[in-house]
Amino acid sequence: MKVNGVIVGAGIVGSAIAYELSRKGVSDIHVLDPDLEGLLSSTERNAGGVRHLWQQPINRELSRYSIALFETIKSEIGFNQTGYLWLFGKGEESSGEDMLSRTRSHQLDYEKLSISDIRSRYPFVDKTDDLAFAIFGSKDGLINSNSLKQYFREEAKKRGVTFHDRHVVQSMTEKQRKAEISVTTLTSDIAAQDYLKNPKALTNDQATTVWSADFVILAAGAWSRDLLIPLIPNPLIEPIRRQIILFKAENFNMNDYGMIVDTSRVYFHPEGGNILAGLVLKNEKPGYKFDVDSNFFEEHIWPALYERSSSLERLKPITGWGGLYSYTPDTSGILGKIPGTQTLYECHSFTGRGVMQSYGAAIAMSELIMTQKFHTIDASCLSRERFSMGDSSKLLPEGLHI
Ligand SMILES: Cc1cc2nc3c(=O)[nH]c(=O)nc-3n(C[C@H](O)[C@H](O)[C@H](O)COP(=O)(O)OP(=O)(O)OC[C@H]3O[C@@H](n4cnc5c(N)ncnc54)[C@H](O)[C@@H]3O)c2cc1C
Repeated sequence: MKVNGVIVGAGIVGSAIAYELSRKGVSDIHVLDPDLEGLLSSTERNAGGVRHLWQQPINRELSRYSIALFETIKSEIGFNQTGYLWLFGKGEESSGEDMLSRTRSHQLDYEKLSISDIRSRYPFVDKTDDLAFAIFGSKDGLINSNSLKQYFREEAKKRGVTFHDRHVVQSMTEKQRKAEISVTTLTSDIAAQDYLKNPKALTNDQATTVWSADFVILAAGAWSRDLLIPLIPNPLIEPIRRQIILFKAENFNMNDYGMIVDTSRVYFHPEGGNILAGLVLKNEKPGYKFDVDSNFFEEHIWPALYERSSSLERLKPITGWGGLYSYTPDTSGILGKIPGTQTLYECHSFTGRGVMQSYGAAIAMSELIMTQKFHTIDASCLSRERFSMGDSSKLLPEGLHI
């Protein structure tokens, strides 16, 4: 099969790139995914937070351009700018002030809230003795990631993009200035889930078709690692599970509020009449895991919320799940040409911010594909070459809630 462009992975990143390339007139684009529904994809399993504030300028830019689009299609994608509240404890004042000064120097809409401001705006945050202050971002909010993905896909389809379900890309290579991929077509949704839970289980002896393309973009999120290994023996990325819990609070409805990031770094927000909470556990081992630990709620979430609010003392967990972050050594994403190739590109590993950065990344990737240069957002710093330069100033560490 000979086509113009292939996107490997139809999560939020692959779908956004398909949207942007087709919007700019690039034709004959094919997006391949073992499971277009995306049951195990990170796009399906995330917390839906959207914000402007990041330490690295490139991360702020990717969010800024994404949010500018989200604001124009708010109702279609369930984007509610209900704000982000970051709580800082006594002893954390300097990191809070540092964060605030960043927001000021970049003209971002954030304000400092005193304890009495917090208590009047968020009356249920009533256990405040340990708090120093908070930072509030009024233009930040929550989004329905699935609706955003569907928006990108539907718009892309209108412009001729084809999305292929049950298609697993097994390998990528380059021959005579053309990208070549081998593709296995799965016969059932169960086979797709099995592959996504254990990519190594898919053997190379299954029937494959070879596709040739002018360009291929790897956007397989946390599964990008396995596809990169034949090209780059140490691709420097790891899939790592992050957990989320959905629960009900007795006699308390959080619907009028937005995202809150507690001093414990438990984050929580309203979710369809219930509350969704998550926490990044630092000791999680890499791997493809999608369940939630039986002690996650009782040991990590509930104690932190109990300590913050008397409205959050009586909680009833409803469900929980795990989803994958793809981590780079500096925790910023990778976007660029795969080194040593002319036709293979990569765009993945945005850890906990791939939804809010999806459209910014798509703008940058589409410009790179079409002109070999960045114009709107200079994303050259996101190339994986930053890791091999031996120059720590080229790294993009992102310490804010990763
Ligand atoms: C618990 C949790 C909370 C998060 N919270 C937030 C948040 O609040 N805000 C935010 O912006 N981000 C958040 N994120 C991060 C965000 O969800 C991800 O960064 C984003 O969804 C990544 O999108 P993606 O398209 O790169 O990957 P995915 O959505 O995972 O899509 C990758 C696709 O590639 C496909 N694929 C895999 N292997 C192959 C193959 N061999 N061939 C073809 N296709 C393949 C998969 O089936 C999948 O559909 C969170 C993530 C998690 C896990």
